[in-house]
Amino acid sequence: MKVLIIEDNPLNMKLITEILKTEGFEYLEAKDASKGIEIARKELPDIILMDIQLPDMNGIQAMRKLKNNSNTSSIKIIALTAFAMKGDRERFLREGFDGYLAKPFKYSQLIDVINDTCQCREASNKGG
Ligand code: MN
Repeated sequence: MKVLIIEDNPLNMKLITEILKTEGFEYLEAKDASKGIEIARKELPDIILMDIQLPDMNGIQAMRKLKNNSNTSSIKIIALTAFAMKGDRERFLREGFDGYLAKPFKYSQLIDVINDTCQCREASNKGG
């Protein structure tokens, strides 16, 4: 499974990549939405972890651009939000995201949301 992380905070990016590396996922990194969209179109990841507060456009706009393009519309997109509020999950799912995770999160929460959102679980090495 190939995961694209779109996240401008270097510490969050490092945390996420360490987890994905440990779990054996292939991953790609982008620090802003424009670069993330470019990589998504080129690499067609299975799943995108999308920060909502990004320097160039917000994660909801970036998600819509990907969902509105037939080449990238089937990519599952998980919203990553800081300062989570009650009702956020429902709000982001209604906007069109496939999954939702509030920051800060635990190791297992990140893995669970990826597995719950993406049907392709072959890269999960929990099976043995
Ligand atoms: Mn951010």
